[in-house]
Amino acid sequence: MSFAKLKAARQDKPSYVTSNPLPSQESSAVPSEGPIQSTKESLYKSIPDHLQIRTSAVSGRGLWATKPCLPGQVLFAMKPHVAALSNERLALHCSQCFGGGGNAGLKRCTQCQVVYYCDSTCQNLDWTFHKNECIALQRVAASGETAIPSDAIRCLGRIMWKRQKQGPASPWTQEIDLLQSHKQEVPPSAYELHTHLAISLVRYLGLSSPSEIAAFGIASGADLANFVSRFVTNTFTITDPSLAPLGASVSPPVALINHSCDPNAVVVFPRSRPNNQEPLMQVVALRDISANEEILTAYIDTTLPRAQRQASLRETYLFSCACTLCTSTQPDLRDSVWCPKACGGVCPAPTEENSLSRCTQCLSALQKTDEVLDASRIGQQALDKASLLQFTDPAKSKQLCSKLIPILTSAGLTPSSHPLLALTRLYTALLIADLQSSSPSQETLDEAVVCATKALAGLDGILRYGHPVRGIARAELGKLLAVDEPAPRPPAASAAEEALRYPPSGAKRLRMALDVLLQARGELNVGFGAPNEGGAVGRDVREDIVRLERELGVWQKGLSEAMRDAKEAKILQRS
Ligand SMILES: [Zn+2]
Ligand SMILES: [Zn+2]
Ligand SMILES: [Zn+2]
Ligand SMILES: [Zn+2]
Repeated sequence: MSFAKLKAARQDKPSYVTSNPLPSQESSAVPSEGPIQSTKESLYKSIPDHLQIRTSAVSGRGLWATKPCLPGQVLFAMKPHVAALSNERLALHCSQCFGGGGNAGLKRCTQCQVVYYCDSTCQNLDWTFHKNECIALQRVAASGETAIPSDAIRCLGRIMWKRQKQGPASPWTQEIDLLQSHKQEVPPSAYELHTHLAISLVRYLGLSSPSEIAAFGIASGADLANFVSRFVTNTFTITDPSLAPLGASVSPPVALINHSCDPNAVVVFPRSRPNNQEPLMQVVALRDISANEEILTAYIDTTLPRAQRQASLRETYLFSCACTLCTSTQPDLRDSVWCPKACGGVCPAPTEENSLSRCTQCLSALQKTDEVLDASRIGQQALDKASLLQFTDPAKSKQLCSKLIPILTSAGLTPSSHPLLALTRLYTALLIADLQSSSPSQETLDEAVVCATKALAGLDGILRYGHPVRGIARAELGKLLAVDEPAPRPPAASAAEEALRYPPSGAKRLRMALDVLLQARGELNVGFGAPNEGGAVGRDVREDIVRLERELGVWQKGLSEAMRDAKEAKILQRS
């Protein structure tokens, strides 16, 4: 966590690497039995030697490199302290290793009938957590309540039972208790959410009054509210190797890392280890990090422009960001319009407060500010609606995207601009879902390729090379280009005309697919960690590359040669 107001609040908090590790009374819900013996020797053992917890006047407590790190280097890897699948994923993944990705072969817990496991190994590994959870879930069902508690509640429940079992002096509990608190800054809307969570948790744990929470080493109802607040601001979303969200987790060592909207590292779950070690969080360097530089990851979607990022950080993480990107005076492509004179430069997008905008290169004034403001406003409304409808009414969602994308484009927004990029990415995802559900038409396939290309151009403009989001988007485009064309177009009348066509057909398309997949492999190797070889998606991409190289080899050898090969193979088979 970091920045501005927060930093000031944090400065008087103790540093956990120096002599006084005692958190102040209001800063945590640590049980009152005796002082905590937290030294760097006994806590945060999963943090390797090349990283160090330091407290700086600027960013408060954080994680710093003590040695230079390279892009793609796994800075550290660890299993979260607790994790819980989101409700919609419960029946699709193993509750221990988060593997599966479909119900086939998973076995349901016969007692609660809510959670699933790969096998008895995964079930046994999860038993410390599930033992009490199973009883709580059965109690919920018996009470006639149909809804399964949310992943946040189930995650909190898992923390409570484990801290009860481990005791307050265990490193596990101490690390949980040392999660940073920002109670004094909780705005009313967040306070309401935290109170609601605390009440639901008390009910889920089967307690008849908040005071009974003492049995879990939490002194009072107020301490519980504080505990829940610290949980919310320190939760991590677990994702699959394609970055789709799977559930919630808490990992105190990873929570030490402060935020930047232009991070030098990312937290990913590449799934490169045996199942029983998963879900393994890996913190990966995105660029060269020098010795004595702070490790920074992004807590939010960094494709959003400054205003949206700040709102999102304030809402969930309760601070204002003062990172290099947020304080930069350079125009940001996330929020830009093409130069009206088409000089190649951009104008900062106008706002309601400041409609005057000039090209940063040729200084031409942007004339159509009202058009840009209107397009952005209705684009945001359409994006909100289309995002909500994407699973329940994908056709309507698609319609909203396809209507708004041309309006925003003609208003002059750059492909990296919000909400154009977000709409393009959503539209791409919906078209891909279409292609997967039915036998694709050439039109839909080509439209998906065009859309994925635009989305990638937008992402390339604002995210660092190797960012996992870029790597995944590039892999997606490569895979789309490699799909067998249902009805390849005949060549155009002239070579010049043919060169202008996008996407191309035939061998040219396959060569393009190969190029894009090779680039994707390079980026995935960075974003998902070099030792993980791009994680599960990287593995997939490597297989596609081999297949394409073989196919292109066939193209190059020419049809006749291929036929001759086939004939020879048949003769060989017969003999
Ligand atoms: Zn499993
Ligand atoms: Zn169960
Ligand atoms: Zn920022
Ligand atoms: Zn210009």
